[in-house]
Amino acid sequence: MKKWSLLSVLLSTSVFANLHLAPPDFETEKGRAIFVDFKTAEYDITYNVMWKKTSVKSKIIFQADKTGKPVFDLIPTAKNAYLNGVPVSIIETQSPDGSKLRQIDHEVGPGQHTLELENKFSRNVRYNLLTRKVSSAFWIRDLKYRKFMEQYIPSNFEFDQYQMIMNVTFAGTSRARQDIYTNGALTQTSPNSYRIVYPEYFTVSCPYFHTTPKGRKKRLDFTYPSIDGRQIPVTVYTSWWSHPSKFKAEAQKVMKELEADYGPWGHPSLVAYETIPGTGGMEHAGATQTSLAALDHEMLHSYFAKGVMPANGNSGWIDEAIASWRDKGYRRSPLPNFTGSNLGSQSVYKRNTDSRAYALGAEFMAYIDYRLQDIGGLKSFLKGYFQAYKHTVITTEHFKNNLEFFSGLDLTQDFETYIWGENPTDSKQHEEANPHHKEISRVLFNTLL
Ligand SMILES: [Zn+2]
Repeated sequence: MKKWSLLSVLLSTSVFANLHLAPPDFETEKGRAIFVDFKTAEYDITYNVMWKKTSVKSKIIFQADKTGKPVFDLIPTAKNAYLNGVPVSIIETQSPDGSKLRQIDHEVGPGQHTLELENKFSRNVRYNLLTRKVSSAFWIRDLKYRKFMEQYIPSNFEFDQYQMIMNVTFAGTSRARQDIYTNGALTQTSPNSYRIVYPEYFTVSCPYFHTTPKGRKKRLDFTYPSIDGRQIPVTVYTSWWSHPSKFKAEAQKVMKELEADYGPWGHPSLVAYETIPGTGGMEHAGATQTSLAALDHEMLHSYFAKGVMPANGNSGWIDEAIASWRDKGYRRSPLPNFTGSNLGSQSVYKRNTDSRAYALGAEFMAYIDYRLQDIGGLKSFLKGYFQAYKHTVITTEHFKNNLEFFSGLDLTQDFETYIWGENPTDSKQHEEANPHHKEISRVLFNTLL
């Protein structure tokens, strides 16, 4: 439709320069903390299979638009950091809501800068000394903060989209006998090294990377004929206790449904790893690690969450609301069954999704569907919204504005009450864990490797 393409044109002038979506800069003990725009991040990741050590050397080129000390995040300790070739220290600091992040203890001015640093990580890595092989996965979670790529590699926050490249080397062996599963473009660069180039539209919650000893997982590779004519490469894989044929059949069924509802698959490929029943899953962009039962939910997230992407924790409710609304059969309801919530109006520094997004969000979407029933309902809006804004980062305000633009309705009161409102008892009751994104212990994650 014309109105969509008009908005798209307006937006395309600012694609990937997302600093306007960053939270406000703030003061720390060490000086003014500024958010910056990552342009490229190249990570040299070395798995030393002799010494069981995993190390990362990173080179990040970023743009600052004002003077201050840049913030980013990395949970492991940073070492040997250089800013524009000069040694700097990387300190731990806190945003005004008390959440931890990293800050370069050196002031920069507006312009482009280069940060180089090193770190080690051990989360979700398991070495086998005898075979000189390794299992490692960059799993993520979104209901708790600091669970994205910053667990492993220095990263920016969800508002930013930037080119990520990983050069992965298996040191201590002349020839790597590893399988690599990824949603980036993979090439082998030597008998024991690989290069993965991720799409430029990715944010810190998008990349998928999992390496296992060769042949450890059972995999099926096939192509899916998209409605846009592409043959989409699909890889499904599972552990010894299952067979990927069930995953293949389910992935094909879900892909057909989603393409019919929302248009062509928005990513270059699909990678899906079957985990233990009852454990739910997590979505990456065109990739997921998930139980069979949650595969459909996680694939929907390749449209909403990792196709149209949330800028921050206050926008994370949107995609869980849409996914849960679908899980519950696209109900239509003349009124939500709760009196109000603050799902989208918490700290501007919030980085995780509110776990009430499933229950309350689905109710709110059922209500919006009711309001839009004369113009094809919410699904018809979402199809256009996805087509116009896939590969971009959005906020609750953006979602509301577009809903109003599409429908001609004034939804201010609805958002003020149900999304940006008070936090009454009836909304607090819905803080239960969602079956699709259960919290997984370190031990369980380890068994999935
Ligand atoms: Zn979800």
